[in-house]
Amino acid sequence: MSDLRVSVSTVDCEVVARSDVVVVGGGPAGVAAAVSAARAGASVTLLERYPALGGLASGGMVLVLDDMANGQEVTVTGIVSEFVERLSAMELVVVPPEEDRRASTETWNRWGRYGVFDFHVATNPKPICYAAAFDPDGWKRVSNDVVREAGVNLRLHSWFSRPIVDDGVMRGVIAETKSGPQAVLADVVIDTTGDIDVASRAGASHVKDSYLTTLVFRLGGVDTDAAERFEQHDPKAARALNRAIKRTLGGAWELWWLKTPIPGVVWCNAPHMTGFDGTDPASLTEAEFAARTKIANAVELCRRTLPGFERAFVVDVAEQIGVRQTRLLQGEYVVTVDDVRDRRHFPDSVARGRDYYTPYRAMLPREVDQLLVAGRHYSATPQAQKMSREIPPCMAMGQAAGIAAALAVDRGTAVRDVPPADIQAAMRKAGADPGDVPSDNAFTAPADVEVDHS
Ligand SMILES: Cc1cc2nc3c(=O)[nH]c(=O)nc-3n(C[C@H](O)[C@H](O)[C@H](O)COP(=O)(O)OP(=O)(O)OC[C@H]3O[C@@H](n4cnc5c(N)ncnc54)[C@H](O)[C@@H]3O)c2cc1C
Repeated sequence: MSDLRVSVSTVDCEVVARSDVVVVGGGPAGVAAAVSAARAGASVTLLERYPALGGLASGGMVLVLDDMANGQEVTVTGIVSEFVERLSAMELVVVPPEEDRRASTETWNRWGRYGVFDFHVATNPKPICYAAAFDPDGWKRVSNDVVREAGVNLRLHSWFSRPIVDDGVMRGVIAETKSGPQAVLADVVIDTTGDIDVASRAGASHVKDSYLTTLVFRLGGVDTDAAERFEQHDPKAARALNRAIKRTLGGAWELWWLKTPIPGVVWCNAPHMTGFDGTDPASLTEAEFAARTKIANAVELCRRTLPGFERAFVVDVAEQIGVRQTRLLQGEYVVTVDDVRDRRHFPDSVARGRDYYTPYRAMLPREVDQLLVAGRHYSATPQAQKMSREIPPCMAMGQAAGIAAALAVDRGTAVRDVPPADIQAAMRKAGADPGDVPSDNAFTAPADVEVDHS
């Protein structure tokens, strides 16, 4: 980094919208936040830097919804369930039926390669669970539909650049566009950028860390039946070939390819790379180049060696590189690894993941008013975020943030003062589980009581 700095004067820009709520970032959390605020009666503007909605679920081609089941209990509902229903009507999602949600060789052979299993369980085979393999373009279409139907004022191609803060209170945001900087004024701002672009620039406390960076891709022309037959009949040989391919990729989960709703098209959640900074353009440029070389080499190797992949070709490489973690809010409450691992229940829980709970305080910055943070950059330690940042819980947080914002606007109160019980009640009314009622395996003692991990 250079030590050279320049200073520019305050921007003078057109106000293109004035709404009760402005949501910055149109990924899973942002779409859920915008739609839930609008459905609850607020006028909402949604800003997104890219030409399509969906964030990592579409542009980043992250194609399995998981982390929404606690054994047989479905814990993340609400807007995420609507997405599954709408995708199902388009035949662009695969969900294992209830009777197959268990651990057996038979159910594994039927569903394992869709990635719809509980990877937190150590058994072999892992249990099939409530999860969904979906199509990225279908996700964009459903996002468009729900946003339009809710009457959200959507502004794509709008890259948030600076917050408008008045004496510690958010008043709106400025976005860079082809027409120059444009302002949107609002009573409540919801930051769903994934990297707390808004909150960090508004002065909210945060930490910065990184985890795996992955440029995922899809292959077409794959005979998945032949590939699965091969690995079921000769697992030892399949393991050796897959090991070689994963070495070429330089990092991948055990199952480096997964089936998608489109026959013959597989999703490759790889190559995983470490040491990149998801907020630094130079670092991201390097990551894009490094990943494409690994992908080209791996595709060449699997065409040559892996049964079923002889005619495989690259359908697409994600237009958006997969950044899992950058800046994380350190808000009114910071969720810890112990909270997630022990399934600690919070009285102000407003959203759920598989078996853990997210308190409203983890969406509230300490230093800035009228600002909510929802999604993968919520207030957690870096280790805790790694275990609690999947798409469904991010959508649940977004839905809760949208409801909280609309309640604050309606009552003329500060978002910080909205009673969590009212958010919980509104979440339930909207068909979402806020985690107000702890499941049987939750840890319900007060947060200052420690658990024995031995
Ligand atoms: C490779 C990879 C694999 C994963 N695998 C899974 C999986 O199998 N299942 C699962 O459920 N989860 C998985 N995850 C996690 C999951 O994808 C993310 O945690 C989730 O998408 C976060 O949602 P979000 O809305 O918080 O953020 P994002 O999806 O990152 O969305 C943020 C949105 O904000 C926009 N934005 C950002 N900055 C600005 C700005 N300055 N101005 C305007 N707009 C902006 C972005 O363009 C984007 O649309 C994976 C993640 C990665 C990277």
